[in-house]
Parts: sequence; structure tokens; C-alpha cells
Amino acid sequence: MTRKPAEADVVIVGGGIMGTASALFLARRGRSVILLERGMIGRQASGTNFGAVRRQGRPFSQMPLANRSRELWWQLPELISDDCEFVRRGHLRIALDQTAADKLVTYATEARHVGLDAEILSGNALRSRFPWLSQKVVAGSFSPLDGHANPRLTGPAFGRAAARAGARIVENATVVHAGRTGPDFEVETAEGHRVRAPVLLLTAGAWSAAFAGLFADPAPLEVRGPQLSVTEPLPYFIGPNTSAAATNPDESVYFRQVERGNLIIGGPRHGPASIRTGLANVLPENLLLQLAQARSVVPVLARARIIRSWSGVEGYTPDAQPVIGASPRVAGLYYAFGFSGAGFQLGPAVGEVMAALIDGGASPISLEAFAPGRFPEGLSAEGAALRSIRAKGG
Ligand SMILES: Cc1cc2nc3c(=O)[nH]c(=O)nc-3n(C[C@H](O)[C@H](O)[C@H](O)COP(=O)(O)OP(=O)(O)OC[C@H]3O[C@@H](n4cnc5c(N)ncnc54)[C@H](O)[C@@H]3O)c2cc1C
Repeated sequence: MTRKPAEADVVIVGGGIMGTASALFLARRGRSVILLERGMIGRQASGTNFGAVRRQGRPFSQMPLANRSRELWWQLPELISDDCEFVRRGHLRIALDQTAADKLVTYATEARHVGLDAEILSGNALRSRFPWLSQKVVAGSFSPLDGHANPRLTGPAFGRAAARAGARIVENATVVHAGRTGPDFEVETAEGHRVRAPVLLLTAGAWSAAFAGLFADPAPLEVRGPQLSVTEPLPYFIGPNTSAAATNPDESVYFRQVERGNLIIGGPRHGPASIRTGLANVLPENLLLQLAQARSVVPVLARARIIRSWSGVEGYTPDAQPVIGASPRVAGLYYAFGFSGAGFQLGPAVGEVMAALIDGGASPISLEAFAPGRFPEGLSAEGAALRSIRAKGG
């Protein structure tokens, strides 16, 4: 099908939380935006994730972005007319051995310098505040301003808000070609859409490496699927989103309880995920390991029944830091991907920062640690992924 290309100031590829939040903030700055999403908005990692809106445990270089995102999460009803079931019940990080406890205390102490206030708790103080914890827990740090939210609601709510602000959001639009035509980018979908714009923003999650490869920007992404499960509803007893730190990574379970009563549990060991099928598999042995760990930290879970388990497709960079910023090679090309299992909390601020960068030429928050040019040539996107995207937009 040949159509005259639609024109916009910015074309965005990928409608997860990064793409929709960027579309919202760009539209609020008066930029015309067309966002192309292969499936449905928020259907991939942004909709399948655990829902932790936490800052503890992040590298300090992410904290300015995470702190700004924390503010935006608190303002969601005013910002996007939806609270996305975000609850400000804090984030509790617990240590399961003394070495992990020492690290947790050091982190919480040093994090104060980057704007994160966490209360260190141990012994009776910890157990009287959180009586559901087992004796296995040695210490905890509690960050009261964080919380958790419903991922299934969040991407679509940002997408609707972006559309209300004037962005054109196109679902079921698989981008199969993106290239330069004179001063503009031209983007085509398998369904016959053509869009021309001087700015291209790639927010295609785990699929982004192949796009970056089209423009010769090295962007190595390993694709994996964290695994999650949900219990039947239990009486509400756990407030904070909770994650365990341990010297043995197989003990690093995390969980949260929604106000309806269900507990969502995640933890060690990722399963296989595919950018070709868009699916991530649940490995039963990982699930059993996570549930055993969860029971050892919260003994009452021994009586809970699991009603569903799932996984999601996420892209991990070699340094576990995202790729955010302008392409070092191609003017007008911007990236926000590679969030390595921790992008949900950052999403609102990433959208705001991308809009500032594209519209105003500078980010109010340092993006130095996330520079797209930081990976060596040898680590360029896999040829197989590139071929697959060219062949069938997968
Ligand atoms: C199981 C799981 C648990 C997680 N838990 C947490 C957590 O608790 N807290 C946290 O902060 N982070 C968490 N994360 C990470 C977080 O979900 C991601 O980092 C974040 O959602 C990434 O958002 P995104 O918009 O970059 O990617 P995505 O949500 O994957 O969006 C990318 C979009 O691009 C689209 N796309 C791909 N190719 C094309 C194409 N050719 N044409 C058009 N569109 C295309 C895809 O369909 C997709 O919708 C978790 C991730 C997973 C998978």
C-alpha cells in the first residue's frame, strides 16, 4: 500500500511506559507526535512487570531520575487523570544474612546524599513494625515515600493522557523500516503506515537493539524474562512493596500485596524470552524456588495458593544501566531503552526528560551514565535480531 506519509515533529516507535510518557510530555510542550505500537499500548514489559515503584537498590547515578519519577508518581491523578492503583506504602528492603545487612546499611546511609531517606531497622523494631517477617530476616531499610502500582493500568493510562494532550497513538502498527530521507526520518509499518518526522525516538523495549543497529549504534541487549506469580486473595497484612537482599542470589525474593488481598511474588532466576515471538516462558523450577524463598521470609504464605504465573520480555544491557539520550551518530535520533528490569519506576521521569531533550535541547537531569555511545563497537546489536526485524517486523 503506498500512502503519502503522515508528518509530525516526532515519531515514536514503541508504546510502553517510555514511549507513552514521552508522547505525553512532548505533546504538552506543543510538539506534534505520532507513536507507533506493534501490538497494544503497555502490553509488553510495561504491562507484565511486578509493579515496584522503588528507588532503593538502584545505582546512585539513577537516583536523580528516580527521585523525579517518585514526584511524578505521586502526581499521577493530576498528570494523567488516573492513579494506576499506585499506593504510597513504602518500600522495605530486607537482608537475609549479616553480609547483606552490612551492605544494606551502607547503601541506606550513603543514599541520603542522593536524596533517598531510608530508615534502618533491626531486631525488635523491625519485627514489631512488620510482624509477618520470619526470624530469617536480619535487618531492613524502609523507604516511606515509595510504593507499588498496577502495571496493567499504567501504560494505557499514559497513552490515553498523551492522546488527550494531542499525540496520535497508533496501535497494531509494526515498524519494519526506519531510515533517513533528506533531513527527515521515514518510518514504515507492516500495516502500511508511513510517517515522516525530523525526530525519531526509539522506545521499543527489548526490541530496540535491532533498531539501533539500523543506524549503526552499538546497543547490546540480552533478552530475558523475570518470573512472577500471584496468590489467591488473603486478608490484607503487608503494606510495603518488599524485596530481599542476600549473599546467595537465589534467595532474593520480592513481593507486594494489592489492597484486594492478592500477593504478587517474584524473585531469583529469569526464564527465556523471545523478541521473535514476543513471549517469555515460566520455568516451573524457578517458580518453585521463588515460592520456597517467599515462604521462608513470610511463613504465613505456606498456606497461600498460587492462581497464576507469568513472565515478560525485558532487555538487559551489560552494565544494567539504560540507554537514554541522543544517538552519537545520527542527528535527530533519540533512544530510551535497556531498562534492565527496573524501568517501570523510572518511566514518568524518562518521558519528561526525553521531551526536554528533544524539545529544549537539554535534559534537566544528568544522563551521563546512560550515554548511548558508551558500548564498544564489538557489542553491536545481533545480526540475527536485525535480520528478523527487516524480514518480518518481529
Ligand atoms: C516480569 C517483569 C518484572 C519487572 N518488574 C519491574 C518492577 O517491579 N519495577 C520496575 O521499575 N521495573 C520492572 N520491570 C522492568 C520494566 O517493566 C521495564 O523496564 C519497562 O516497562 C520498560 O518499558 P519500555 O517502554 O521501554 O518497554 P516495553 O513496555 O516493552 O515497550 C516497548 C514497546 O515497543 C513495542 N515494539 C517493539 N517492536 C516494535 C515495532 N517493530 N514496531 C512498533 N512497536 C514495537 C512493543 O510491542 C512494546 O509495547 C520488570 C520487567 C519485567 C518483564
